[in-house]
Amino acid sequence: MTLLNGLGIPELTAPELTGEWEWKLARMEAGEMSRSEFMQEIAAMTERIVARAKTYDSDTIPGDFGELATPCPKCGGLIKETYKKFQCQGCDFSLWKIVAGRQFEAAEIDELLTQRRIGPLTGFRNKMGRPFNAIIQLNAENSPEFDFGQGSGGDGTAEAVDFSQHESLGACPKCGARVVAHGMSYVCERSQGPAKNCDFRSGTIILQQAIEPDQMQKLLRSGRTDLLKDFVSARTRRKFSAYLVRAADGKVGFEFEKREPRTPARKPRATVEKTGSPDAAGAATVSSGRKKITS
Ligand SMILES: [Zn+2]
Ligand SMILES: [Zn+2]
Repeated sequence: MTLLNGLGIPELTAPELTGEWEWKLARMEAGEMSRSEFMQEIAAMTERIVARAKTYDSDTIPGDFGELATPCPKCGGLIKETYKKFQCQGCDFSLWKIVAGRQFEAAEIDELLTQRRIGPLTGFRNKMGRPFNAIIQLNAENSPEFDFGQGSGGDGTAEAVDFSQHESLGACPKCGARVVAHGMSYVCERSQGPAKNCDFRSGTIILQQAIEPDQMQKLLRSGRTDLLKDFVSARTRRKFSAYLVRAADGKVGFEFEKREPRTPARKPRATVEKTGSPDAAGAATVSSGRKKITS
C-alpha cells in the first residue's frame, strides 16, 4: 500500500476506485459493458501505472514506513516497518507484511502483538487462489499461526471449553442453551467438548459479510438480522444484500431482499453454505487482487 501510495498510483489504493473496477467487472459479466471496452480501460490504466513506476528506481521508492506502537514480544525493542517486514531493531523478531496474499497494516500488527490474536480477518488466499478468512494468533514461540477455530473439522475437539465467562448472545435455536462467540463462529455452548449434544454454529463472517455480535443477538431474539449489505457470492463474486434468518430446523439461512425486476428471482430461504470451514468464506475481492501487485 505504502509503495503504491509512494508511486502516486491512486488507482490501486483508493477503495472507491477499486470498487469502481468491481462494478465495471460486474457490468461486463452482466453484458452491460463490452469486453473490449473493459479491456481498453484496463490497458489505459496499466499504461499509466507502468509509466509512473518507471520514473522511480527501486532504491528510492518513497514511503513513510513507520514504527509500531507496540514493543517486540521477545526483547521489548522497537519494531520498525520495512518494505517487506515488521522488523525488531533489538533482536531477530520479525513478521512478514504479506501472508497468504494479504498485506497487514501496522495497526493490525499492533493488535496482534498486544492481544496475541487478531481476527477473524478476510482477504487471505490459499495456494489454489481461493479466498479464506482466519484468525491469526502468536504461539508460545511468538510465531504467527492461523487459527481456524476449534472443531472446524466438524468432529469437534475432545477438549472441554469453559464458556462460563463468555457473554451469552441469546438462546440456541436448536436446544435453548447459551450461544457464545468462539473463534470464527458463534456456537451453542453445548456444541463443544466431549459431552457435546448440540451442533448449532454460525460464522462470524459469512461470504465476506461480518456478522457483528449485535446482529447475532437480534437473530437469536427475533429470528432475523437487519438487512446486511456486504455479502459476496462465492459463485458470481457479486455483492448482494440479505437478511440472516432462523430457519425452522434451527439452522441459519438467507432471506433475500426484493430485487429490481432485471435480476432473475432468487430462491428465498436458501440454506447458508457451511460456514465452519475456512474455504466457505466466500468470493474474491478486488482488494486481494490488488495486493498481489505489491508482492
Ligand atoms: Zn526484539
Ligand atoms: Zn444448542
